[in-house]
Amino acid sequence: HCEAQLKNYLDLGAKDKLDIKFSLSGENTYKKESIKLFEKKSIGDNNLIESSDAYMSPFLISTVNKPVFILASLDKQNLKDALNKNRQQLLGFILIAIIIIFIIFNVLIHFGISKPLKKLMEQISMIKEGHYDAVSIVKTADELEEISKNVNMLAIAVNNRETSLKNSQNQLEYLSTHDELTELYNRRSFSMKLEYALQMAQRHKTKLAVIFLDLDEFKQVNDTLGHTIGDRLLQAVAHRLHSSLRESDVLARVGGDEFNIFVNGFKNITELQIFAQKILDDFQEPFVDAENEIMTSASIGIAIYPDDGEDTESLIKNADLAMYRAKEIGKNAFSFYSMELSNDLQKRMGIVQALKSAIKNQNEFLLHYQPKISIKTNKILGVEALIRWKSPELGFVRPDEFISIAEDTHIIIDIGHWVLHQACQDFVALKDAGFDVGQMSVNVSGVQLEYSDMYKTVKDAIASSGIKTHELELEVTESYIATNEKSAVATLMKFRNMGIEIAIDDFGTGYSSMSHLHKLPISRLKIDKAFVDDLPDSKESVAVVNAIIALAQAFELKITVEGVELEAQVNFFKDKYCDDIQGYYYSKPLTIQELKEFIDKTS
Ligand code: C2E
Ligand code: MG
Ligand code: MG
Repeated sequence: HCEAQLKNYLDLGAKDKLDIKFSLSGENTYKKESIKLFEKKSIGDNNLIESSDAYMSPFLISTVNKPVFILASLDKQNLKDALNKNRQQLLGFILIAIIIIFIIFNVLIHFGISKPLKKLMEQISMIKEGHYDAVSIVKTADELEEISKNVNMLAIAVNNRETSLKNSQNQLEYLSTHDELTELYNRRSFSMKLEYALQMAQRHKTKLAVIFLDLDEFKQVNDTLGHTIGDRLLQAVAHRLHSSLRESDVLARVGGDEFNIFVNGFKNITELQIFAQKILDDFQEPFVDAENEIMTSASIGIAIYPDDGEDTESLIKNADLAMYRAKEIGKNAFSFYSMELSNDLQKRMGIVQALKSAIKNQNEFLLHYQPKISIKTNKILGVEALIRWKSPELGFVRPDEFISIAEDTHIIIDIGHWVLHQACQDFVALKDAGFDVGQMSVNVSGVQLEYSDMYKTVKDAIASSGIKTHELELEVTESYIATNEKSAVATLMKFRNMGIEIAIDDFGTGYSSMSHLHKLPISRLKIDKAFVDDLPDSKESVAVVNAIIALAQAFELKITVEGVELEAQVNFFKDKYCDDIQGYYYSKPLTIQELKEFIDKTS
């Protein structure tokens, strides 16, 4: 009872562990240290003693008989265990609290700082990438929102700054590459563009022309009418030059009254010549406004890549030299750097002008007919119409000299039209007069087939003359077929379908593909004079001619041999698969009258 009372009294957390001992003779029972305590202490006094392994508290209770010694002791280990347990619980609690706090902290950071910060960073990186449109701002109602607003404002400011920077950069770029007065390219950018164009021309193996143009007597305009009018003249010239260029041409003002142009992708010299002449012709109209009508002309020099120079500098320099030559020959003229070309072109120019008036007059042209004779019968199998031109200015001009020029300028379309109509009419007239020449062969240029409605021209000529379709043969050149492999089949097929015969002229010189030959709607090969010339002695010519004959035989094509002048040549063909000879040996091309006499004689 006493023990229970005591324990309650003590009310310790570790009361179960409290060990209480009772004794009536304390000295023998307890440890020495406590004895002394018993002597002086009474119950209720706080007398705790500590030993190495326990806490002890002795009590002395006086009873009627004897004092009772009580010793309450608590094993230190028990207390330690209890304390450790408590400590562990506390630590666990602290750990959980830390984790919870950490999670809460993270959530708070995420929603309160990270997300808005991320948005802010996005705003900033958009600026970095050059997107300056105002984006939706961070809504955190704190400093971050304020920063976000400022970032947006910064974007607008940067945008404005950048736009104006770009504008001034563009302006600077424009000023450094353009001539302020005429707004054309300046010398520097012309050179750069030419440099690049030359690289392209080199890579693609194309030609390029540099044109140097200088106004005639510009100084006089400036001196007499003043610089303002002079400036306006230059602007008007720039404008007019610019409007006559193609998109690929580049025009620049390179000095006071000097302009440079480079032209690429031209087909031939004639095209350049026409271009230069057109520029000069454009100067025939007065410049500037109604109040100040100024007539001026220009001198033009042309240098061609790669013939007259391979780099920017030498081409411009040579075009400049050529321009001086144009000044020397009286201004308002153009000249090529190459003297040979210049003379040649001067001559070509003359032919072009004369051809133009010949087309109007028509009576300058005449047709001669060269008979095609059968080796076996010596009879006439057909005639080839060959044009002759007697120009009032130039005298007699050979077809070799003017046909290619007429082709370059497309004048051949009108000439060819006339030839076809005339030849068909002559054929029918001869026939009506009792001179049957068998067949009429007419040369047709590739230009006519490509650039005119040849089908209509042929149909008209047949209708107006009354020639039968099988009596008409069109001679097309091998080079036309070689360069228009695909379209040639369709074009020629139309004539074949009408019953008209088609011959390939100058066969063997135009590199047409042999594999293509069987697809072509042709009926005849004309062996070129070049192969006949060396017959019968040249082994090579014999081989070529034999090969052509074999080819014609295989494809069931007729053959005409051109340019036969010698008996030995006639004999060469005698026992071959060909019976149709055209050449001086039998007859030169003849006038109608001569042809009639020839027929009379041979029959
Ligand atoms: P081509 O069609 O091959 O005509 C044959 C040319 O050879 C003619 O020259 C003719 O006179 C010449 N020739 C014929 N036999 C002999 C010969 O035995 N010896 C020599 N040395 N020459 C001979 P031509 O009349 O001067 O015509 C030259 C070329 O001009 C023609 O060659 C033809 O391609 C073209 N041509 C002539 N007239 C016309 C035409 O009306 N239209 C077209 N597009 N071209 C034509
Ligand atoms: Mg011919
Ligand atoms: Mg020929």
